[in-house]
Amino acid sequence: MSDGGAWTTLRLLAWTQEFFGRKGVDAPRLTAELLLAHALRCERMRLYLDFDKPLGEPELAAFRDLVRRRAEGEPTAYLTGRRDFYGRPFLVDARVLVPRPETELVLEAARDALPEGGAALDLCTGSGALGVSLALERPGARVVATDLSADALAVAAENARALGAAVDLRQGDLWAPLRAGERFDVIVSNPPYVPRGELDTLPREVRREPRLALDGGPDGLSLLRRIVEGAPARLAPGGTLVLEMHEGHLELLPRLCRDAGFAQAEARRDLAGLPRLTVA
Ligand code: GLN
Repeated sequence: MSDGGAWTTLRLLAWTQEFFGRKGVDAPRLTAELLLAHALRCERMRLYLDFDKPLGEPELAAFRDLVRRRAEGEPTAYLTGRRDFYGRPFLVDARVLVPRPETELVLEAARDALPEGGAALDLCTGSGALGVSLALERPGARVVATDLSADALAVAAENARALGAAVDLRQGDLWAPLRAGERFDVIVSNPPYVPRGELDTLPREVRREPRLALDGGPDGLSLLRRIVEGAPARLAPGGTLVLEMHEGHLELLPRLCRDAGFAQAEARRDLAGLPRLTVA
């Protein structure tokens, strides 16, 4: 950022948008706004009310640091410490995968399958985006969420507390933290499902996210197979399994579900037409 007049909000946004564009950063304008709002500790829309106010040196220094780190590949959500999921602010940092908008479809499918006062299980909850949102969308439901990562569960606990959701968080490997005989009307999961060979081809921002949250083993299905095979014993009669999926598993994942004894299993697509989830 060179000199030549005061750095007003509008001028900073224009400069940063252009800079991010050159650096190949996604959504350059939005990213510039999110980072500037974070540096100024204000809401994003507030930026346009004070658009020609010059920034003070401390704010400018804080913003410069954020812009540099973003250009070097740090995810925006890790820099601001939050990401909205289904209209609610979730705290996120490098301990968890950043909640994705596509995953909102998984939440909606799980919510729609969950009867009033029912019980739901969220496996590999990470930041808690699915489990916490489900508890808030279905206030009468009992929600249990598990994760192998104690670090991730600490983030999920903060989110449950901040958003006022009652979620029973348990640390352990998939089904291990469950009690004997515990069953659920809905089991939902966005487990790691990226085939190991694809991990190095992911965008650099995604490669900053926990490998544990992405690495699905040699074919991407290591966790999904264990979930599909274990689910029938943990579902109440007529229960539903809702899984986020890799687009490459369009045929395979529904077939795995049918092989495991599910009467029906179908892949559903997102608005862009990509297979996103399987409901069984
Ligand atoms: N959808 C994630 C991505 O974009 C993968 C998430 C996962 O493995 N569960 O890389």
